[in-house]
This record gives sequence, structure tokens and C-alpha cells, in this order.
Amino acid sequence: MLSTISTNNSITASFMQVFTTVSETQKQIENWQSNGLKIGFVPTMGALHAGHISLVKQSLEDNDRTVVSVFVNPNQFNNAADLEKYPRTFDRDSEMLRDVGVDLMFFPSVNEIYPTPDIRKFDFGDLEKVMEGEHRPGHFNGVAQVVSRLFEIVMPDNAYFGEKDFQQLAIINAMVKQLALKVKIVPCTILREANGLAMSSRNERLNTTDRENAKVIYETLKQAKEELATNGVEVVKKKAIERLNSSGFLKAEYLEISEAESLKAANKIEAGLNYIICLAVWLGDVRLIDNVRA
Ligand code: AMP
Repeated sequence: MLSTISTNNSITASFMQVFTTVSETQKQIENWQSNGLKIGFVPTMGALHAGHISLVKQSLEDNDRTVVSVFVNPNQFNNAADLEKYPRTFDRDSEMLRDVGVDLMFFPSVNEIYPTPDIRKFDFGDLEKVMEGEHRPGHFNGVAQVVSRLFEIVMPDNAYFGEKDFQQLAIINAMVKQLALKVKIVPCTILREANGLAMSSRNERLNTTDRENAKVIYETLKQAKEELATNGVEVVKKKAIERLNSSGFLKAEYLEISEAESLKAANKIEAGLNYIICLAVWLGDVRLIDNVRA
């Protein structure tokens, strides 16, 4: 952890540098790298919670320096209202990152990340045609744009991503392969509230009753996983969707049981393969995603 306080174009926080520009960030990181230090990186969209911090702690453990970006990436929002409503909590985020021992917080503007419009089109084949890719057109192209840009700036040895966004993790792995990047992608397990609700920045928009009610999401996933031992995939899917929709407060957008590598929808469970149950549900006007390995 650093004890210097930066000045130019930075927001001062003790023991952690906070940079808003690419040039300052690159300069600092190049300096660390020229001294042979290993860089860990955790990209986030802010509104940080214990789930994000678990990724940060893993990075602090594995690397000499840890960089965290906080950037709400407009290119990955296919819905303007969702982008507008996304929580932004800079003061609390920077305090959390400083307290846990992060070395550099990168907090860029949209112009800094995209000085000219990013027109790159990625092709992730079938991986981007299902689940989040199907329901949020353009979402993963925007994710790949921002993550590849952030990787160019931060040049990390290791980068940390949560299994909460399971399909995103698959897309990032595919992108790293396609672009032949040297960064190692480290998957991290999902952190949950005591009642099982997966931690998410979007939970900020739920009231106390919603948060309690939302435990049905994880309960449904766990039950579906158990039922797969004795029932067929289609029956389990149908029952799980019914359970969510009959709760009185949840509306399922999709629930898929998929092979965990290709993310292809499974017709049946075959020995020797790994599976994942993924869903997206609406709780009022808040969209939540979650998954369990099956
Ligand atoms: P976000 O700020 O939502 O873009 O998330 C930044 C990173 O934190 C992503 O890699 C997410 O998968 C990860 N993340 C978000 N929520 C959780 C959670 N509950 N447990 C573990 N990782 C998470």
C-alpha cells in the first residue's frame, strides 16, 4: 500500500491515490512495473459492497499493487433509464477502497475512456446469443469495449471478476483469448447477504421488505439444483419459473440451465459435464441476476 498523496488532476485520499486521467494512471503503473511489481486489477462500476471488496482482497493477497476502477460504462447499458438510475456513491466507494488498502483508484470520465466513440464490434459467437446477451442487446460488446480499454491502460498481471456475472466472465475469457492478452483472469465466488440474496449494487434500490422477499431468488435456484437429481431439465425449469412468478413480487425474465463452458442450454444432464443455473428477475423496476452451479 502507498503512503503518497497525489496532486494534479486527482482527488486526494490518504494512503490511496485517486486518479481521473489515463496519463497519470499509466505513469504510476509504468513506474511500478519498471520496479518489477505485480499489478492486480478489479474493474467495477462503483456503488461498492462486500462482494466487490472480496475481489479486492483477493487481488491484494496475490499482487504487489492493486488498482480498482470505478466507471459506469454507458456503452454496456442498452436501456437509458437503467444507466440513469445506476447508483453512484463516490465518497463511500473511495473510503471503502482506502480502508481495505487499495493502492490506486481510477475514476475516469466518459471522455477519458472514450475520447472518440468506440466503434469496435466483437464477435463472441453463441456465447453472446443467450441469456444476458439475448435480453440485453449490445451489452457484452460494451463490456468487451470497456474491459479491453481498461486493460490497455492498467496493463494488469491479474484481473478479478465475480462469478455473479457468470456469462460476463465467459465473455472476458473469450476476449482475452481473441486479443491474445497476457492478463490472467481470476474468477471469484459470489458473496451473498445472510438471507442468500446475491450482493449487488442494484440492491441499493430495494427497500427492506424487497430485500427480505428477494431471498426467494436463491431459494429457487437451490431448489432447482436439488430437483435436477430426480427431474428432467424442462420440468425443473418450468417449476422454478412458476415459483418465482407466483411469489407475488418477482417476475422472471429468463431462467436457464446451461452447460457451464459453452453456456448452451441443456436438454438433459450428462455425466462428466458441469452445469449452471442462471436467471434474471425483476423485483419492481429493479433487475437482478443470480446463478448456482448445478
Ligand atoms: P459491477 O460493479 O457490478 O460491474 O461488478 C464489478 C465486479 O464485481 C464484477 O466482476 C462482478 O461480477 C463482481 N461482483 C459483483 N457482485 C458480486 C458478488 N455478490 N460477489 C462477488 N463478486 C461480485
